Amino acid sequence: MDETKVSPLKHFVQAKKSITSIFDQLVQYVSEGVLFVEATFKNPELRYVTTNEDLNKIQSFQTRLTGIGEVLSRRHMKVAFFGRTSSGKSTVINSMLWDKVLPSGIGHTTNCFLSVEGTDGDKAYLMTEGSEEQRSVKTVNQLAHALHMDKDLEAGCLVHVFWPKAKCALLRDDLVLVDSPGTDVTTELDSWIDKFCLDADVFVLVANSESTLMNTEKHFFHKVSERLSKPNIFILNNRWDASASEPEYMEDVRKQHTERCQSFLVDELKVVDLSEAQNRIFFISAKEVLNARMNKAQGKPETAGIFAEGFDTRFLEFQKFEKLFEECISQSAVKTKFEQHTIRAKQITDTVKAIMDSINVRSADKRIHSIEDREYQIDRLEFVQGQMAIQAEDIKRRILHIAEEVNAQVSTAMKEEICHLSLLVDKFSEDFHPSPQVLKHYKNELNAHIEKGMGRKLADRCSSAVNSSIQNAQEDIIEKLKPLLPSSVEKEIYTSLPCRKFDLSYNLNCDKLCADFQEDIAFRFSFGWTSLVNRYLGEKNARLLLAFAEPTLQVPRPVTTPSANGMPAMSPQSATQEELMFSLMSGLASLTSRGSVGVIIVGGVIWRAVGWRLIAGCLLGYGGLYLYERLTWSTRAKERTFKQQFVNYAAKKLHMIVSITSANCSHQVQKELENTFIHLCQQVDITERELIKSINNLTDEIKQLEGIQSNSKVLRNKATHLEAELDQFIKTFLHQSK
Ligand code: GDP
Repeated sequence: MDETKVSPLKHFVQAKKSITSIFDQLVQYVSEGVLFVEATFKNPELRYVTTNEDLNKIQSFQTRLTGIGEVLSRRHMKVAFFGRTSSGKSTVINSMLWDKVLPSGIGHTTNCFLSVEGTDGDKAYLMTEGSEEQRSVKTVNQLAHALHMDKDLEAGCLVHVFWPKAKCALLRDDLVLVDSPGTDVTTELDSWIDKFCLDADVFVLVANSESTLMNTEKHFFHKVSERLSKPNIFILNNRWDASASEPEYMEDVRKQHTERCQSFLVDELKVVDLSEAQNRIFFISAKEVLNARMNKAQGKPETAGIFAEGFDTRFLEFQKFEKLFEECISQSAVKTKFEQHTIRAKQITDTVKAIMDSINVRSADKRIHSIEDREYQIDRLEFVQGQMAIQAEDIKRRILHIAEEVNAQVSTAMKEEICHLSLLVDKFSEDFHPSPQVLKHYKNELNAHIEKGMGRKLADRCSSAVNSSIQNAQEDIIEKLKPLLPSSVEKEIYTSLPCRKFDLSYNLNCDKLCADFQEDIAFRFSFGWTSLVNRYLGEKNARLLLAFAEPTLQVPRPVTTPSANGMPAMSPQSATQEELMFSLMSGLASLTSRGSVGVIIVGGVIWRAVGWRLIAGCLLGYGGLYLYERLTWSTRAKERTFKQQFVNYAAKKLHMIVSITSANCSHQVQKELENTFIHLCQQVDITERELIKSINNLTDEIKQLEGIQSNSKVLRNKATHLEAELDQFIKTFLHQSK
């Protein structure tokens, strides 16, 4: 009898260890998966990589797996013993446990269920249902006493007996043995089954071989069979030692019992077929086995005190029962306790793997798309930068060219208009009067008239041409830079530009330009002293002479105009004495040499020839001429003279500002076009900034997608690894041939 070989119950113990470890890994794996999917889903930039459905799914797995490890670790094998009172149930349990754990022989006087399970401690104790109190039990008699004395124990309640695992091998292997009150003492079979039998892996019917199988026993198992599909049932025909006293009937009785039990299991309950049934029916003596094992534990010979015939056979049959029972219960328990979990775990790994696969595929697709997009954006940025450099040079040249054209155009137009200034002045028809107040007003109005008239004429000549060339240039610049503009601006670039109509401003500032004009409209006789001196000495010398000869004489003061070098012209007062003398001498010398000598000679000759009459006539004629000129020197004549003087003065001044005005116009045009160009450059800058930002964003996104891809791959591989472990578990523990 080999009692030390490895128990088949280890199969369950190993399976439990294995599945608990797989579930620990699975729980950790699903938690990692939840963190990963959550982080991906909550990232607004990467949301498309996963779905809310995936997140909900994986989160629900996490919830379902919570506490599952603990549930699995509490899983045990459970065998329930049924039979009539005093059939020997407690004795069978004790003999299996190799010790007197449960009280027997006193008639199972309590109506309680007794569950025997292992405890890691070295002290036995019992706990009743609904109480946390651990009641210490030192001996089996104490236990019996406690059960008897406890008035609170109701019929059909459960009492847990915790027995040190160290004392009993079966308990170390997660086996729980449940003893029941006799099936003959209760009518509450249904509630018993619901309460204690639904999680039992094996049922043992302990029958009394001295009598036949009773209907009460059969009835109970019929009920069990209705609730559980194909329960594992063993029938122990106990007290078989009693048959030893009547050996002549032994074979017949055994045959009879065997047939009845087979018929019960095969035909009535249909839980096994005939061939299996022979491994479910045993003829034993629990009392003998218990005694033998107790003897062995106490170091006595096994058979001490055992006198009945055929002990060895019965002992071997009991061992055979134990072996088959252990194989059956461990196989069955592994299946019932772990198979569903294994299937569920496979479904979870399968689903999580599919989620990781879909995340991987989506992120790979998106990554490829983003890389292509980034390539395109980089190309476009290079194109925009390159084109901008080329076009900028071109556009600047074009603007300068147009500005030069405008300069020339305005310059030509202005020169021509200065030539026609007298026509413009002639058209001025304000009331003229030589009084200083009227004259002042007249000059102001005339300046305004010229400003307006010149401006209009210049505008007529230049503005439309300048405007159209500006417009053409603007359109050209836009067309050139249009492909480089941000897409949002591209379509409405014409409306986004500053769209004022360009008006060239000529700004002649006639009032300031001619502010120093000084008219000379005093009467002057054509043959008067002043005029003659003027005629012979020139205007400048004449003024000097007249000022010298007649200091009180009101000579029209020359205008202090800036000289060519910008210095004020020299006034008569400031002329040097040498200059004056030189002018006088040279003028008189000229007069004397050319006219005076001639006049004196001619005068003397004429005096002699014609006499005083002619002289008187001449004087009369001279006086008449003076009178005529004096009378015709009207306001109108003064206005004409004024206008003529003004035209001469203004023309000279306007000529001086031709280049400034045309340069000013050219500058305005240049500024206008440059504004357009700057505005467009700003838009191109926006394009560049947008492109750089987009490229950086895409680079970040690609990096994140790479991370997601590699994470999803790692998690997928972990799922595959767990699947392999589950497959190995199924192969080792669930598909193992019995
Ligand atoms: P239970 O009420 O079904 O738990 O039965 P017990 O285990 O308490 O046993 C009742 C009585 O039967 C006890 O006195 C046992 O010693 C006795 N008994 C149990 N098994 C055997 C056996 O195999 N042979 C004999 N002769 N007596 C037994």
